[in-house]
Amino acid sequence: MNASFTAPHPRNLLGRCTLVGAGPGDPELLTLKAARAIARATLLLVDDLVSDEIVALAAPGARVIHVGKRGGCRSTAQSFIEKLMIQAVREGEQVVRLKGGDPFIFGRGGEELEHLRAAGIEVEVINGITAGLAAATALGVPLTHRDHAHGVVFVTGHAKPGGNSPDWRALAQTCHTARLTLVIYMGVQTAAQIQAELLAGLPACTPVALVQHATLAQQRHALCKLQHLHSTLEREGLGSPAVIVVGEVLQGLLALAEAAPHSAAEVAADLAADAPARLSRAA
Ligand code: SAH
Repeated sequence: MNASFTAPHPRNLLGRCTLVGAGPGDPELLTLKAARAIARATLLLVDDLVSDEIVALAAPGARVIHVGKRGGCRSTAQSFIEKLMIQAVREGEQVVRLKGGDPFIFGRGGEELEHLRAAGIEVEVINGITAGLAAATALGVPLTHRDHAHGVVFVTGHAKPGGNSPDWRALAQTCHTARLTLVIYMGVQTAAQIQAELLAGLPACTPVALVQHATLAQQRHALCKLQHLHSTLEREGLGSPAVIVVGEVLQGLLALAEAAPHSAAEVAADLAADAPARLSRAA
């Protein structure tokens, strides 16, 4: 069951709003519940990282508004999106807010939920597979493992403008002592700083995977040691959207890549048999 949140004094509205996770990219990773919500929507507000195949599940008469940075446009202001959703629900629309991955993992789903609730609107939230989980799985790597990692931390490398960035040194020390895998979203731009600060608490040889466009045909990845994180990103030309996975769960794959780069690439490529061969380099 996904959570359904009701405001304290909901109005009697015909419209409704559903925040839907579209998953990491591969349309087949969409949940059945998400597919049904998309099909019954009359208005869809769609973020950038949502596949066209998923948007195509909308009913023929549904209105689709892309609110991301598609076509080189600036992304739509968050306050405008929230106002649009509230107005559309009041007009009786079945609104679906379609977001990449999971709406509650770095998707501003929490902010939208709060605004809608404050306006007396009931919101349903449908989970999607988050990119960090899918990226590791696409390489055949578990985020937790009884021998290597007792847990996992999802963290953003891109703080809200004016906000505090994560305390990478504290995170590195915690991940090292508590044996946690670190999964960094939106970390490409700040990779050099992240690397420098993580090295204060994690060994230089800690394995890292960089995964771009996880689960899509154009997926690419590179494996390296923490001390080479930034240079590997630059050399391979890996860019956004990408996640950075840091931790001993990658040890086996990195060792394979260092010993036999082609075998490591094949292991990863075999895991998504319908996707083309991927880049794999060990640095
Ligand atoms: N709600 C989303 C995250 C949105 S933040 C989720 O749960 O996945 C956007 C960031 O997610 C990107 O900058 C990138 O770090 C990551 N991301 C999203 N899709 C991705 C993909 N297919 N491959 C790699 N990273 C991805």
